[in-house]
Amino acid sequence: MLLPEIKLTYADILPLIDPNGNEGCGFLIGTENIIAEIWRVTSITPSPDMFAISRNDGEDVLSSAKAQNKRVFGIIHTHPFENDLTGYIFGPSKKDLFISKLSGYGMPNALHAVYEVTNGTLYLYNALGILT
Ligand SMILES: [Zn+2]
Repeated sequence: MLLPEIKLTYADILPLIDPNGNEGCGFLIGTENIIAEIWRVTSITPSPDMFAISRNDGEDVLSSAKAQNKRVFGIIHTHPFENDLTGYIFGPSKKDLFISKLSGYGMPNALHAVYEVTNGTLYLYNALGILT
């Protein structure tokens, strides 16, 4: 699998960082094979250790991207805290990896990304596991 080039800056990620310490979420958007934007959506389950995106938000993003000739690569979320309870200090949790196998919001082969707020690192993963 050819991984997309990621042209995201901290300014792109910043809107996902919730001052209340909950996970933030959004979609990875770009063109061709370059991820260049994040479209933030509001989690319907505000929590420091989970997120969920409404079906409506998912459908809106897919149709807006299509209208703008942009590509939706997948989903990004943040981890406000280290995730040591599930065996991963940083990166996707076991639950994240499990969920990535089940659903890509209508996008088979969806990419997933998790941004670790405490160490400032972005991890890419998909249903097969951690990619970077
Ligand atoms: Zn997670």
